Amino acid sequence: MSTAELLKNRSEFEEKVRKLVGRPILLIELDMFALPCGCNGITANMRGLEVDDLEVFEPQLAPFLKEMAGNLGVRPTVTFARIVPGSSIVASLNWRVLCSRCYPEFARGEGKMPRPDLYLLQFEKRK
Ligand SMILES: [Zn+2]
Repeated sequence: MSTAELLKNRSEFEEKVRKLVGRPILLIELDMFALPCGCNGITANMRGLEVDDLEVFEPQLAPFLKEMAGNLGVRPTVTFARIVPGSSIVASLNWRVLCSRCYPEFARGEGKMPRPDLYLLQFEKRK
């Protein structure tokens, strides 16, 4: 993994989402992260994307999300959008490999929005 690959994936993903939604969506920062607890993954900070867009375009968005994870070598337990609470603004898209401590926090909730700031796009339940 190199920053050149991050740059390439940032622009390609932004382009695809723009074409899909038909508005000037921005991916302002694409990050890979590792947390002290063991969670790790990718964050795409977005501007211009709304919860409505997720609801309408989720089936078309799903392969783009999968492709991003594959390109960056991440196998996410959960893929979700972080919503600015009390609004329809999507602050970021997140691909996260959950550690055993954080897993229950995501597994506990029900439906697409287990918490007011989370919109689930993919979740791999443990057996
Ligand atoms: Zn964790």
